Amino acid sequence: MKGLIRGIHHITAIAGDPQRNIEFYMGVLGLRLVKRTVNYDDPRAYHFYFGDEKGRPGTILTFFSWPGAHRGRKGTGQATAASFSVPERSLGSWAERLSSRGIPFNGPVPRFDEEVITLSDPDGLALELVERAGERADDPGTDGPIPPSLAIRGIHGVTLSVEGNERTAGLLTERFGFRFKGEKGNRFRYEAEAGESGSVVDVFSLPAANGGQVAVGTVHHVAFRTPGRQEQSAWRNELLESGYDVTPVIDRTYFRSIYFHEPGGVLFEIATDSPGFSVDEPVDRLGSRLVLPAWLEPQRSRLEKILPPIRIPKP
Ligand code: ZN
Repeated sequence: MKGLIRGIHHITAIAGDPQRNIEFYMGVLGLRLVKRTVNYDDPRAYHFYFGDEKGRPGTILTFFSWPGAHRGRKGTGQATAASFSVPERSLGSWAERLSSRGIPFNGPVPRFDEEVITLSDPDGLALELVERAGERADDPGTDGPIPPSLAIRGIHGVTLSVEGNERTAGLLTERFGFRFKGEKGNRFRYEAEAGESGSVVDVFSLPAANGGQVAVGTVHHVAFRTPGRQEQSAWRNELLESGYDVTPVIDRTYFRSIYFHEPGGVLFEIATDSPGFSVDEPVDRLGSRLVLPAWLEPQRSRLEKILPPIRIPKP
């Protein structure tokens, strides 16, 4: 039994300079670096995972860093914005925080039943901070630079830009089990039944727009949650039977992954919740050192020379 998709597991995007990336997501947005590793498909590039204090699925935004690479182009066939949940009545403080650091933003503006601030990261990636009624108030950790009343609670959702929303909507509602929640202009909203972190997918229908190009400042893929191997295997079989071109299961150490393109062209992944980020370092040490999978350990000294040094910003 594969069950329904429980929401977004992580979003992966491309950054330029790794130090600038870390300073923004840790220093400005107050996320934790929960894993410092390399891109398994190109180990000369960092792969950073940012998230909450435990690195829970649904809180994770990850980056491959491509220093010196050109910026990508936003367009159809891409996820064009990543949004974070923040506590109720916190956007005023976020506006002050961003202003005091000279970071441009727009809003807060209403969208459906929420308030939203939009901004860009240093590489031009579109981000949103979304105040959500009833957003849980449990303590997201006390060692971050952001007070708990303000701290990001996790991924809120993602915006996909596609030529036409119907086929993407079909995948989300008929297979993933998302519910259609409403439309405003060309924005169509779908939400996972579970209603946990990362449960919102907005689909922008842009029939006249150009296709996007993945490079610095764009999203590489969106990963959705499934509990474990059995459910993932069932998903893989179902997608293959439906005609999707799905990869074999790939071991990403912290989760297992399958990838396929959704009908609008966006690269989707289905990732397992288990085993999680504490599989190779304790929770209180997450992200404190470069960790490599066993098959790359023999190359550690070579990779440490190639990868630019980074400093973790002080709170
Ligand atoms: Zn991924």
